[in-house]
Amino acid sequence: MPLCSANCGSNAILKRPKTGDALCKECFFEAFENEVHFTITKARLFEPGKTVAIAASGGKDSTVLAYVLKLLNEKFKYNLKLVLLSIDEGITGYRDDSLDTVKKNRDDYEMPLKIMSYKDLYGWTMDEIVAEIGRKNNCTFCGVFRRQALDRGANLLKVDYLATGHNADDIAETVLMNILRGDLARLNRCTSIITDSGDGIPRVKPLKYTYEKEIVMYAYFRKLIYFSTECVFAPNAYRGHARVLLKDLEKIDPSVIMNIIQSGESLKVNETANMPTLTKCSRCNYVSSQTVCKACVLLEGLNKGLPRLGIGKSSKVKRILEENEKKNCDSTSCCRTNNCKKDIEGVEKCTDKLSSVNLIK
Ligand code: SF4
Repeated sequence: MPLCSANCGSNAILKRPKTGDALCKECFFEAFENEVHFTITKARLFEPGKTVAIAASGGKDSTVLAYVLKLLNEKFKYNLKLVLLSIDEGITGYRDDSLDTVKKNRDDYEMPLKIMSYKDLYGWTMDEIVAEIGRKNNCTFCGVFRRQALDRGANLLKVDYLATGHNADDIAETVLMNILRGDLARLNRCTSIITDSGDGIPRVKPLKYTYEKEIVMYAYFRKLIYFSTECVFAPNAYRGHARVLLKDLEKIDPSVIMNIIQSGESLKVNETANMPTLTKCSRCNYVSSQTVCKACVLLEGLNKGLPRLGIGKSSKVKRILEENEKKNCDSTSCCRTNNCKKDIEGVEKCTDKLSSVNLIK
């Protein structure tokens, strides 16, 4: 049994995936927590006296984030008020169970918890959306809706920051994904540790440089309770391909994760590149690069029986929206009128179902 490389005199019980150091449990905890503290202070993520909503899914990342933020807040006197914010996507056998874990975290960490549901916000659960769209592109709906739901929850709670559990592996995967997709706009901002939600509440990533394997190790040795089942709709997520690639590369050289993040941070998009201009959605006022934001387009598609609206080129979406407008069947009047009976492209008749349309307002 080797001695702990931090020279504490104890035996090492683990090898850090990030650095290869052999450490005892206590020295690992200290190294892990100090690195998160360093990330927070170096990037000046929080101002004292502010309120932070922790996006809590019940998974390992958000559970460790909540635990470590509470610990660091007390140890280093950040003077922050911490609250938990969860999104219920309505995925049976996944989110319902993971929310039980979040409720346990709420009690254990003594933090208030707010749960926002897709059903309340959009009128649809992910189970219902998958029944319409199938198992391809479902994560597009889920991701777009979740992002907005978190911002709405943060606004409702009147918090100053929204902290998410994105870890180093997530960021590296996102860099790879944006390169593979040629998405310059996202590539340009995906490594930022602080991003603007568009509603004035900054999103921060305190675990940005923390390896996923170390998060799992930390949760294991700290005996934290978290939910580890994968989403039932996950296997078809495009991100999964980037994840497999990254895991294969990590086996060859663990530093590949940090290298990809640092490469992403150093990238500068050429000024002549065609970048989207951010504006406000004409319907829900949410920040968007289009006249109508992605969430409103996806929702309109669902509500009008055109679930593929918003999947694909924005020019095609614009044309369909304009054609619907010409048919005097805009979403506002149509969807708020019971049984209006107007024809919409691809839909035989409006039905009562449309009367319950929940365009984001
Ligand atoms: Fe949503 Fe897809 Fe994640 Fe499941 S895997 S929670 S459907 S984004």
